[in-house]
Amino acid sequence: MALSTDITLPKDRQPVFPNLCIVCHDEPDRHASLVINTSRGWVSFFVPILWFVHWKRLDVPVCASCKFGLYAQRWSRNVLMIALVAIAIGYFWNDFRDYSRAQRKFAILGVVLAFLAPWIVFEVFWPRYFDITASKDTIDYEFASPDYANAFAVANGIPIDAAHE
Ligand SMILES: [Zn+2]
Repeated sequence: MALSTDITLPKDRQPVFPNLCIVCHDEPDRHASLVINTSRGWVSFFVPILWFVHWKRLDVPVCASCKFGLYAQRWSRNVLMIALVAIAIGYFWNDFRDYSRAQRKFAILGVVLAFLAPWIVFEVFWPRYFDITASKDTIDYEFASPDYANAFAVANGIPIDAAHE
């Protein structure tokens, strides 16, 4: 169990990945294309339409044997999240029937957050091999491996000390 190591780059900067498989750190022989949403997390939570814009494609170096694992981790965790949201909404939707539209929205939001809480804890303490979180002008590149994060920082010309802030 470990938190991710995050390296922050300006949003408009194209990240450079070290020539290492992002999963096993062996020599990579291919890339995995990850399509990642770069809208700001909390904003897009309240304005779901933002889920349909602001996508960024990142080509991440992997080796043949790790590629499936990298995709499988992303997909299984994303599907789990979507399933939790769907269950929360589906199960409780009718319970808030008598509420006004605005009240219903907040009630559903609360239920969704309650359902997602364990998933969020899981994501924080068992980080993905790689993920990103966008804020207004910057993107945090989050690595499960501190070694890989350091190599990424070096590849992007960031002093390692600054990268660990
Ligand atoms: Zn590998």
